[in-house]
Order: sequence, then C-alpha cells, then structure tokens
Amino acid sequence: MEPPKASPLVQGRLAERPLKPALTRGWRRRCPNCGSGPLLSGYLKVADHCPVCEEPFHHQRADDGPAYLTILIVGHLMAPMIMFLYAELHMEPLIMATVLTVICVALSLYLLPRIKGAFIALQWARRMHGFGSPDGTAEH
Ligand SMILES: [Zn+2]
Repeated sequence: MEPPKASPLVQGRLAERPLKPALTRGWRRRCPNCGSGPLLSGYLKVADHCPVCEEPFHHQRADDGPAYLTILIVGHLMAPMIMFLYAELHMEPLIMATVLTVICVALSLYLLPRIKGAFIALQWARRMHGFGSPDGTAEH
C-alpha cells in the first residue's frame, strides 16, 4: 500500500532548503523561500507572511541575535580604527569622535536589518521555531 501523498503546501514545507541562497535572500531583506516578497514590513518589523508565496514569518525568533552580531562587527571595526586614527594620524579627539560616531551609527543602521534578514533566513533554512512544521505552528 502506498503512503498517503502530502498536499502541495506540505510538500513545499518539506522540500530542500539550501542555506546559502536563503542567507543571500535574507541579507537582501527578501523572503528566504521565494526571494521576491519583502521579509520586513518596516525598518526592522518582520512581515507576518510573504505576499508572493504566502510563507509565514510570524514564528521567527531573531530576538537579540541581530543586534548582538551588529555590535560585535561594528565594535571590532571601530576599535582598530580608533587606535589607527589616534596613534598614527594624531587626529584631534573632537574630530575623531565626530567622524567615528557618524561611521558607527551609519554602519549599524546599514547592517542591522540585513543581519536580521539573514538570521530569519537561517531559522527558515534550518526549520527552526515552526518554520518546518506543516501547519506553521511553533514547536518548543
Ligand atoms: Zn516568499
């Protein structure tokens, strides 16, 4: 006897989910499933679902991960830059503080939504937090 066939929706949810394309789509703030629909409905607000392929995003759990990674990256870029500007270029402290503040804020604002998209794409590709369940409910 043949096992019962899964519906197209369930088949789609059980299909292969390659990590690299998903991360690229997430970094571009696009749906990790289809790559067309927007992942975020605001600067950092995650859309409830993809308007193109109907993939639900409501169970994502990025939490503090994107902020942590953004601080980690920006901090590791800023610290050597401070050392270089102060020790090698002998830059005025007030000018240095102003320049580095602008770079720090701009880089953080650029990275945060992209890292959040990549975090959600990782969860989607690894079927974490309900992304793998056929009915889209969260598993704990
Ligand atoms: Zn989609």
